[in-house]
Amino acid sequence: MASFDFDLFVIGGGSGGVRAARMAAQRGARVALAEMMGTDGLGGTCVNVGCIPKKLYSYAAHYADSFHESAGYGWEGVAPTLNWATLKHNRAKEIGRLNGVYSNLLGGSGVTVFNGFARIDGEHAITLATLHADGSPGHQHFTAKNILIATGGTPFVPHFQGREHVITSNEVFDLEPFPQRLLVVGGGYIACEFASIFNGLGTKVTQLYRGEQVLRGFDEEIRHFVAGEMIKSGVDLRLNADVVDVRKTADGLAVECEGGSIVMADAVLYATGRMPNVKGLGLDTVGVAQGGQGEVIVNAQYQTNVPHIYAVGDVTNRVQLTPVALGEAMVVVDQLFGPVAGKPPRDMSYDFIPTAVFTHPNIGTVGHSEEKAREKFGAITVFRSEFKALKHTLSGSSERTLMKLVVDTASDRVVGLHMVGPDAGEIVQGFAVAMKAGATKAVFDSTIGIHPTAAEEFVTMREATRN
Ligand code: FAD
Ligand code: NDP
Repeated sequence: MASFDFDLFVIGGGSGGVRAARMAAQRGARVALAEMMGTDGLGGTCVNVGCIPKKLYSYAAHYADSFHESAGYGWEGVAPTLNWATLKHNRAKEIGRLNGVYSNLLGGSGVTVFNGFARIDGEHAITLATLHADGSPGHQHFTAKNILIATGGTPFVPHFQGREHVITSNEVFDLEPFPQRLLVVGGGYIACEFASIFNGLGTKVTQLYRGEQVLRGFDEEIRHFVAGEMIKSGVDLRLNADVVDVRKTADGLAVECEGGSIVMADAVLYATGRMPNVKGLGLDTVGVAQGGQGEVIVNAQYQTNVPHIYAVGDVTNRVQLTPVALGEAMVVVDQLFGPVAGKPPRDMSYDFIPTAVFTHPNIGTVGHSEEKAREKFGAITVFRSEFKALKHTLSGSSERTLMKLVVDTASDRVVGLHMVGPDAGEIVQGFAVAMKAGATKAVFDSTIGIHPTAAEEFVTMREATRN
């Protein structure tokens, strides 16, 4: 029988890779994990340049509203101003702490962590490009019974004149100096979140989106409502708009849009999607099948067409969310090394994945949009409530909240639940459990609300808005 250096070699120390490596090692497997950014990269996109720093900046931006709104509650005095250097420093410190936590968790579980770029050289072979102590390049070779590709994704920027002047979400956290004028291109999660964040922090934000409305794929009413709230809060959102070229001038970046208008900006953030990280990974060496964007193709068990090579997370270009990568990693581990004692092997369901967009106000959503539900179920009943949150009766803010339930009329099951409003992500998480459990509108109706909250609206909507 062949003997290998490791039972599992994980490539990538992000959400999926770290989870898989830790869980496998805890089952007694001999596990290695390679991260090309070393300890500083542990945690991957989410920890370093994604979910966590983004949410910290979103909190920072919300303070601006709070300072302003507190006057209605009797607070007096001059509102504080933002010290961007302090925010960046404190964020970097916290991310460094998290990198350390990940490193300790891996070490504590018995995972061997390598600092280097891993390439697949054979069905069971990996070459790791590292640096020697003197800085010269070196290579190490390993064998592994199983290989897990968890290399994530990287920002995609289309080709246009002046592309070298723009930044992506990787660079936005450390912008120097603080941008007084920011142009954001794109209409997805990242574009909308950063438009909201910088608008809140005090930047003059212009957002260009090529289509009719931002956040394609979300419930239509939610898309329009959140766009309206973003515009009300100060984002200059321009739809059906795209960039022709970007030029550097003495007054900053001059962005020429289709139709000839010029937007002047200190920074241009492209948030136009992400591509799987597969460059130099050696997938062709062993014939791992890839899709049109380079993504690794996997079956329901996350197995590639090469039997001992698996892939999870963003590199498979399916649902690009941290909890999904974590869920997929645990399925792979259960399959390879057995489930947790006394528990059945985990599986992963892509139905009713809740998600939030941390715009200001947030979107929280789970299940089908009204449009998708109508297509899938035919007869649906929609319940909708739009209101000014209690907090804003005194705050002076004109922000409004929208909450919406989509019910399959035949079964009475709630198949879509959507919200735009403060803490929508926090609120929708709990409802996602009920929806996974198949809760009907009758169950929602029989649930007692928590008063006075916005969330209680989900269990008190009695009159159908439309059938
Ligand atoms: P990653 O976390 O990207 O990890 C891949 C790792 O592999 C990286 O550390 C990389 O350096 C390493 N690597 C790549 N190639 C090699 C190689 N050949 N050798 C060694 N190492 C290699 N999701 C949410 O759920 N909620 C959010 O709020 C959220 N916000 C986001 C905000 C932003 C700005 C971005 C960009 C993403 C956000 N996401 C969010 C998405 C989330 O970050 C990803 O879905 C998640 O990180 C995917 O995990 P992963 O393990 O597949 O890959
Ligand atoms: P998205 O796929 O969400 O959005 C990409 C946007 O860019 C779309 O509006 C798209 O338009 C537009 N676009 C694509 N190509 C071009 C082009 N050539 N020119 C102009 N516009 C273009 O990607 P993001 O980069 O925003 O985020 C990547 C993923 O990361 C998300 O899908 C999400 O899964 C995850 N993420 C999750 C977050 C969360 O959970 N809160 C936060 C941030 C990211 P069109 O719709 O017309 O194709």
